[in-house]
Amino acid sequence: RSDSVEYVLKRVKEDKVKFIRLWFTDILGQLKSFAITVGELEGALEEGMGFDGSSIEGYARIDESDMIALPDPDTYKPLPWRPKDEAAVARMFCDIKKPGGEQFEGDPRYVLKRMLKRAAEAGYVYYVGPELEYFYFKDENRDQKSTEFLDQGGYFDLTPLDVATDLRRQTVLTLEKMGIAVEYSHHEVAPSQHEIDIQYTDALTMADNVMTYRLVVKEIARQNGVYASFMPKPVFGVNGSGMHCHQSLFKGENNAFFDSTDPYHLSATARHYIAGILKHAPEFCAVTNQWINSYKRLVPGYEAPVYLSWARRNRSDLVRVPEYRPGKEKSTRIELRSPDPACNPYLAFAVMLAAGLEGIEKKYEAPQPVEENVYEMTDQERRERGIATLPGSLDAAVCLLENSDLMRQTLGDHVFNAFIENKRIECDKYRIHVTDWERERYLPIL
Ligand code: GLU
Ligand code: MG
Ligand code: MG
Repeated sequence: RSDSVEYVLKRVKEDKVKFIRLWFTDILGQLKSFAITVGELEGALEEGMGFDGSSIEGYARIDESDMIALPDPDTYKPLPWRPKDEAAVARMFCDIKKPGGEQFEGDPRYVLKRMLKRAAEAGYVYYVGPELEYFYFKDENRDQKSTEFLDQGGYFDLTPLDVATDLRRQTVLTLEKMGIAVEYSHHEVAPSQHEIDIQYTDALTMADNVMTYRLVVKEIARQNGVYASFMPKPVFGVNGSGMHCHQSLFKGENNAFFDSTDPYHLSATARHYIAGILKHAPEFCAVTNQWINSYKRLVPGYEAPVYLSWARRNRSDLVRVPEYRPGKEKSTRIELRSPDPACNPYLAFAVMLAAGLEGIEKKYEAPQPVEENVYEMTDQERRERGIATLPGSLDAAVCLLENSDLMRQTLGDHVFNAFIENKRIECDKYRIHVTDWERERYLPIL
């Protein structure tokens, strides 16, 4: 037995764990889980557990549906909201294999691992710090359909001990019990909108953490009789929810994005990385913003990006470079503001990294930073300065994705094809739907 298998078996005894939940994600980033009893664990760690992959979105066809989930011992954690003293429950993230033991290319965790390996070959470790925003809504009918706010607070508001303050506190404590370090938590700009920021880690750990975070936020809300949603734009007229991704590349101990002689404290590597992101953002947008609703957030006026520009302060830019603070070389980073918290984090991190590395490898030149408010420029001013836009709909985004060799390579044929097929179906369903907006607008005049 390897040390890590030994470690998990020992922890399971100490924690009085009776059930292990094996976690993995489908291509859309929905968490999937099945439970095994502790007696099965040793076998599972060595050989994996079989399951039927045919009903997992984007996995296999009926005729080749047998899959193996192989738990990753590094991801063992007891679930704090389940019983403790006996019959406790722990979770482990899994890698997905084919029955013969070969890697299954449809597994999003593998897509990210493969990309991280490419980065490692170039000498880089990729760090990500995402800021996931979400809403709490009342749920009196227990159907998760209401958009009734719990509070009317705004950015950084300290509302008198309302239910959301306690919800956030309980969520932070639960995340910490699961080994996820929290840095900040606060009320966001829209009523009933909140943000809990977790400390940056390497991208694989972070993608697992994002999956855990979303579950914990929802679980704590549910226990308190409300529900939490990561829908990108649940309410018209107020801010939507983003997942800004702070990112940097390290070479050993050194932050490859830092250069003390540059006015922005950015190295040439960082500038090439930014250029790669700006150039390929339209192609990877369908991945980082994968729902019809995602595109209702990416509009001017709500602190979400629309234009392909970068700058230090401006929050209308796609990429922001947080101001340098003396002595903080390690935290020199760029912030990509387009992704939303309803993405598949494994795929999202893989495509962002692919775009940035492409910029580094091909030495793309970053355009001039744009410190003015891009929202307020006229179309002509933006054209003159060469500032393009993100795609305006899922439909448009999928077309751009489909034509991207870089994205096909990054996602691999299986995920690339399955993802596009799924999204085309989604677009068609939406296209034939007749909305309230249309009835209100057209019935009286047509
Ligand atoms: N909620 C905004 C968005 O959609 C971001 C607000 C902020 O700057 O944190 O991205
Ligand atoms: Mg925020
Ligand atoms: Mg931010």
